[in-house]
Amino acid sequence: LLVPFGICMALLNIGGIVWFSRRRLSPLGELQIAVRRREFIVHYQPIVEIRTGRCVGAEALVRWRPPDGSLLSPDLFIPLAESSGLIKPITDQVITLVVADLGQLLATDRSMHIAINLCAEDVATGRVLPVIEKALRNTGIQPDQIWLEMTERGFIDIDAACTTLTRARELGYSAAIDDFGTGYSRLSYLESLPLDALKIDKSFIDTIDTDSATSSVTSHIIDMAKTLKLVIVAEGIESQYQADYLTKRGVEYGQGWLFARPIPAEEFVDYYQKTKTAA
Ligand code: C2E
Ligand code: MG
Ligand code: MG
Ligand code: MG
Repeated sequence: LLVPFGICMALLNIGGIVWFSRRRLSPLGELQIAVRRREFIVHYQPIVEIRTGRCVGAEALVRWRPPDGSLLSPDLFIPLAESSGLIKPITDQVITLVVADLGQLLATDRSMHIAINLCAEDVATGRVLPVIEKALRNTGIQPDQIWLEMTERGFIDIDAACTTLTRARELGYSAAIDDFGTGYSRLSYLESLPLDALKIDKSFIDTIDTDSATSSVTSHIIDMAKTLKLVIVAEGIESQYQADYLTKRGVEYGQGWLFARPIPAEEFVDYYQKTKTAA
């Protein structure tokens, strides 16, 4: 019995998927158990006013913490979670964690917001909206402090997405298109969606200082977002040069390692208190 198991492990190692071979079940089996045992935590990346560094909120970013003490990046399990449907209970756990971690801060500081990432299916069906509503009940958190981030993959069925967005705004939430520029970004559909904010993908911010072709695309995205009166958030700002460029182009908000990495809740609360009144 041990031999086939050993061979099996060796084969799995050749595949190079370390977190898979370390474990005994299939990745899906492991993820199912993780959901049942609630092995997820949330880190918070500050969203700041670029010009001043003033923190205005945070994006909730999920991590998987298995019992072995490691911390797994969402890129390693979100695709499987999405294809298996496990993303829905994971999203629900993220919402619960956000309220537990930051509920008090959000309830006492009405100017702060928290951004939550939705999966494509929830954008299409709106399933998550009553889940959020219920989680906010009796917490003192106002719906306008909740920003829902969704990538273009959620907009494949544009009518369904429109219905969800309309409902979300009726409930008081804000909606942001995430990773903008990486999908099939057609301007025509952007105009027809009731959005509040647009997040420019990191890949465009990366090339602001190096690649003039891409920075002209970035310029176009900024102009378009302004025409549509969307709040603009730049993702993945790593250099002061990028921050200065964005400020010059009138982009108000951003997030990135220049300001802060995603951090545990307690660290975020400290960061927020220290920077919310920055000049
Ligand atoms: P995203 O929504 O675009 O989140 C931003 C990602 O960029 C985060 O990666 C963040 O750590 C990273 N990042 C931010 N600033 C910088 C920077 O200056 N430099 C670099 N190199 N990276 C930066 P993370 O936390 O690994 O999350 C990856 C993706 O996983 C997220 O991309 C999002 O699409 C997805 N994700 C995370 N949490 C959730 C969740 O609760 N639900 C769903 N559906 N997806 C999630
Ligand atoms: Mg996001
Ligand atoms: Mg993003
Ligand atoms: Mg991104």
